[in-house]
Amino acid sequence: MGLLRNSLCAMALFAASAGNAATLLEPTLHLKPQGVEGGGRVALTLDACGGKTDTRILSALVDNRIPATIFVTGIWLKRNAEAVEIMRAHPDLFELENHGGRHVPAVDTPRKIFGIRSAGSPDAVQAEVESGAAALAGAGGPAAKWFRGATAEYSPSAIAMIRRLGFKIAGFSVNGDGGSLLGAKETARRIGAAKDGDVIIAHINQPTHAAGEGVVQGLLALKQKGMTFVRLDDAEGVGNDGTTD
Ligand SMILES: [Zn+2]
Repeated sequence: MGLLRNSLCAMALFAASAGNAATLLEPTLHLKPQGVEGGGRVALTLDACGGKTDTRILSALVDNRIPATIFVTGIWLKRNAEAVEIMRAHPDLFELENHGGRHVPAVDTPRKIFGIRSAGSPDAVQAEVESGAAALAGAGGPAAKWFRGATAEYSPSAIAMIRRLGFKIAGFSVNGDGGSLLGAKETARRIGAAKDGDVIIAHINQPTHAAGEGVVQGLLALKQKGMTFVRLDDAEGVGNDGTTD
């Protein structure tokens, strides 16, 4: 019994110290409620972390005239010129924003988040944010106003720095596709259940994942219900943890 208690204590201590070292924030973002009649409005945000383009989603957005905010990395921009061209050809639908230069989490201490190594220092966070903005500027189009870090987790001091660099930080309120790892059915269910004021996050860079099919189904269900889609630029987003104020 003593041994058990000791090992439990050790575990509790370990958890406590890991918790301290690991004060990471996953901020939320909501749109101001519309307060008028209608189906409400939501913001669809799609991350393009790296890899390719899910043309199921891209085509569905164009065909159904669903506006979206796309968070792109420098890596993704380089490899997906054709998709970028389609997005740029529909400026009424697509707002491109900053998902970092190299898709490293905006966490200024060295650690791993979901298996991805963090930026690890304030300078590296700054480089990630600025190189992402520079890549977007280099691809033509308006300057980025929003930033979302890889994994959407941040250290508090990184949030303050990103705000000083002039970006709002894009949290979310509905995790649509669980990092693109959910099945089609669950993804469709989560997105289809979005309410007035929600900010949905999903991915547009995993064409082989089942989740992409669910993203399309969920969006069409929302549209069917009369939901209006807005980009982050067009709505007043309110985030917590000092991400937008
Ligand atoms: Zn990402």
